[in-house]
Amino acid sequence: MAHAVTLIPGDGTGPELIEATRRVVEATGVEFDWDEQPAGEDVYAEEGTPFPDRTLDSIKRNGVGIKGPTTTPVGSGFRSVNVLLRKELDLYSCIRPCKAYEGVRTRFPETDIVIVRENTEDLYAGIEFEKDTDQAEDLRRFLEELDTSAHIREHSGISIKPISVFGSERIVRSAFDYARENGRRKVSAAHKANIMKHSDGLFLSVARQVAEDYPDIEFEDRIIDNLCNQLVSRPEEYDVIVLPNLYGDIVSDLGAGMIGGLGLAPGANVGTEAAMFEATHGSAPKYKGQNKVNPTALMLSGVLMLQHLGERDAADRMEKAIAEVIRKGESVTYDLKPTRDDPSAVGTSEFADAVIEEMNT
Ligand code: NAD
Repeated sequence: MAHAVTLIPGDGTGPELIEATRRVVEATGVEFDWDEQPAGEDVYAEEGTPFPDRTLDSIKRNGVGIKGPTTTPVGSGFRSVNVLLRKELDLYSCIRPCKAYEGVRTRFPETDIVIVRENTEDLYAGIEFEKDTDQAEDLRRFLEELDTSAHIREHSGISIKPISVFGSERIVRSAFDYARENGRRKVSAAHKANIMKHSDGLFLSVARQVAEDYPDIEFEDRIIDNLCNQLVSRPEEYDVIVLPNLYGDIVSDLGAGMIGGLGLAPGANVGTEAAMFEATHGSAPKYKGQNKVNPTALMLSGVLMLQHLGERDAADRMEKAIAEVIRKGESVTYDLKPTRDDPSAVGTSEFADAVIEEMNT
């Protein structure tokens, strides 16, 4: 039976990338019943919202979506579609595999890690108090009453870092489940529990408890600064890494850099009711309509979607074909060539053609 999936082209280079990805995913032979829905700058211009209700309803109905990037114009007053999506659908787990494919220039060719980032809590929960407001002053005084050693300087802005048992447990479980389902051997939890005992310390103690339910998967923990040091010296020692929101955000981009750039890094935002697959990079608006940018990150997000849908064989075939096209280095976009003005670089669409051809050989 065909899989019903919400297809969101997005804006900027999004529609070109989605079209390339859709063609490759279909070429695996898996059948899809696409429900195409708008989001981003273009629909904002027409309808005054970057994320219409019909798009949200479609994702809720189908439970699975794949999305091209969407622009968030600075100072426009419209909120990021990705933040809205995460909030509305409680997509609490952000999964970002970072694998260095042969043929890509990177100093870290051994890298094959999966970053699992908590998406809803931590310093990104949006609980903030602006300096010199009544609320910030009240909070400052209240904290000093609660704890006489808690001195906060005058004229301070304050951001709150909540980390709950519920949030920690479900993200760590999602990392272990991912490890189990994808044949991974180890989960490392990253934190700064030596300094932030009641937030990161809680995350760590919950992680240790959850690990006991997964005796088949090795577990270890690392202090976040040490993890960063080790990732760039011994990346081969890491497998699945689970982190609270802020560290996860930073380490995700570190991982993308280690594998050769944003154009190669896929992602999935997963919740209990829905999962949304999309590239790590943005809409690269300056290349809009030029058939130029690299579709690998979105195509690999398509591989993650196939895995999520239980289409393991198709996912493996598609990933192998992408890897092979990159290894050969002929039909690849400018960013994967030795120099950025290499005349042999192909466009987004031709890259997809090469992957389809590779899958059919
Ligand atoms: P960006 O990722 O869009 O582009 C930065 C640069 O990276 C580009 O100029 C290009 O040189 C390179 N690049 C990005 N994707 C590439 C690809 N597939 N192939 C080759 N090169 C690629 O980041 P930005 O310019 O900071 O953001 C542009 C817009 O995208 C902003 O409005 C931002 O809010 C939005 N954004 C959206 C998402 C999303 O939808 N998930 C994620 C990040 C940023």
